[in-house]
Amino acid sequence: HAAEVQRYLDTHPRSVALADEATRHWLYGLPMHWMRDWPAPRPLFVAEARGARLRCVDGHVYDDFCLGDTGAMFGHGPAPVAQALALQAGRGLTAMLPPGTLPDIGRRLAALFGLPRWQVTLSATDANRFVLRWARAITGRPKLLVFEGCYHGTVDDTLVDRADDGRTLTRASLLGQVQDLAIGTVVVPFNDAAAVEAALAGGDIAAVLTEPALTNCGLVPPLPGFLEAVQAACRRHGTLLVLDETHTLSSGPGGLGRRLGLQPDFLVAGKAVAGGMPCAVYGFTDAVAERMARTKEAAPEGHSGIGTTLSGGLLGLAALQACLAEVMTPAAWARMEAGAARLQAALEQVIAARALPWSVTRLGARMELQFCARAPRDAREAAAAMHAPLERLLHLWLLNRGVLLTPFHDMLLVSPETDDAAIDRVAALLDRFLAGLTP
Ligand code: PLP
Repeated sequence: HAAEVQRYLDTHPRSVALADEATRHWLYGLPMHWMRDWPAPRPLFVAEARGARLRCVDGHVYDDFCLGDTGAMFGHGPAPVAQALALQAGRGLTAMLPPGTLPDIGRRLAALFGLPRWQVTLSATDANRFVLRWARAITGRPKLLVFEGCYHGTVDDTLVDRADDGRTLTRASLLGQVQDLAIGTVVVPFNDAAAVEAALAGGDIAAVLTEPALTNCGLVPPLPGFLEAVQAACRRHGTLLVLDETHTLSSGPGGLGRRLGLQPDFLVAGKAVAGGMPCAVYGFTDAVAERMARTKEAAPEGHSGIGTTLSGGLLGLAALQACLAEVMTPAAWARMEAGAARLQAALEQVIAARALPWSVTRLGARMELQFCARAPRDAREAAAAMHAPLERLLHLWLLNRGVLLTPFHDMLLVSPETDDAAIDRVAALLDRFLAGLTP
């Protein structure tokens, strides 16, 4: 690892100098603290990101399998989105009033995700936060259920852990919390339908919020029938089902829930939905819309706590429309799926050739190299399969050879712009990496 660190420092003088200079005015010398030391001792400063490649300020070019942690899932700056932004920029950026394209965007969202009603926000975090507020408001119930290992953005109520005895623990690492979050949030293991049923039976849970597969604690797919059982339990107990498809949009048009035939009450999609612009959406059923309207009638002073000034800004909506109409095409999804299948097969071949007890779990365009023989069933199995020092070395080693992985675990994302040569290269590099480790 020390040799790889030195190699990085020697070959990235400009990034290193910028990082040191920026520390004078930026916390840790970065726009966001989490870019700090992944995977290199100083971050890579970006000169240009295009398609599925990224060039750093030192002139090195990287095959990007991180793709902005899904924000650039359809490639960096898709041309239709860039053109729509340029056009809109000449006509105004934000107005607190809707553009004429609004009905068209609504129609496209409804067709893609299978839900009739929509609202727009700046981020998936905001969308989740507002959906949870709505869920509490329209059910009159105080609590929320999430799954252990979940991540839905920096939504306070969801940043909790589960103790061995099932109690909810406020996460020790959570900065500046204002209340004990354990009061209102129930946490159960993913893929445990009986635990969901038992929790909902209390009748005080407004919503179950989940990704259709957990993607932030490793990749944990749903066991057959699990999500259907959660949906049935929600219906039985008057709890709303919220699917956060922000990452699982990788599964194909409409996300994983649509692929499985689920019918959530709410759906959230952020990050890539507007081609990487700060814009996210949440959709809901007509029945939910009616309950929202009734809730509003009962409280004529309005919707306190929902919405932000720039939500639904003209620029974000222009990007959203272009992405829906011209980027998220069936052909683009087919290319992602084919590229990802090729990458999965190549990685599996490398693993099999060395008889390693590892696996590659894939959801459409997204896959994760996991240090366990089969896909984990819950967050604890996923955690047991992790190996932080090996991951750290792998990420840095690949970066030094022109490949960028997602910082969180070993996730690789394939965009419609990712070419076969890049796919074959990363598999060949993994083989070389493993050859160097084997005694
Ligand atoms: N939902 C899921 C499933 C996520 O993984 C994330 C972020 O990683 C979010 C929501 C929050 O997205 P954002 O950080 O863009 O608000």
